[in-house]
Amino acid sequence: MTATHSHSDLDCIFCKIIAGKIPSKKVYEDEEIYAFHDIHPWAPVHFLMIPKTHIASLAQVGDVHRGLLGRMMTLAPKLALQEGCNPYPQGGFRVLSNTGDEGGQEVQHLHFHVIGGPRPWLKG
Ligand code: AMP
Ligand code: ZN
Repeated sequence: MTATHSHSDLDCIFCKIIAGKIPSKKVYEDEEIYAFHDIHPWAPVHFLMIPKTHIASLAQVGDVHRGLLGRMMTLAPKLALQEGCNPYPQGGFRVLSNTGDEGGQEVQHLHFHVIGGPRPWLKG
């Protein structure tokens, strides 16, 4: 099995977070999704949503992941409000997935940044 398709990657920092080997500030958890605060937030609300299974990036998803990705995207607005984002349209939030070197990806485990809250933000 390659790292892309194995359930968990021993060298992956986000797999270690899911396993509880590295501490994190949990936002949400179910059987297939984990969400936690970004360690370097650049807005009042900044958390990451990750699948519990190790998928290297958005470049590796396929039809088998449609349900998972749909559930992550429908979960994002609920967690955004729960974490303090103001309601749409005056409030809102940003969902972002850096993918690959040229996409600025630093951690090779699929993750969606959910970023929001009153401006100014450090970035974006
Ligand atoms: P990127 O792969 O470019 O989307 O960036 C990875 C993100 O993970 C960055 O925003 C980091 O601040 C965040 N990050 C890295 N390590 C941790 C950690 N141990 N706990 C929480 N967030 C982290
Ligand atoms: Zn991983």
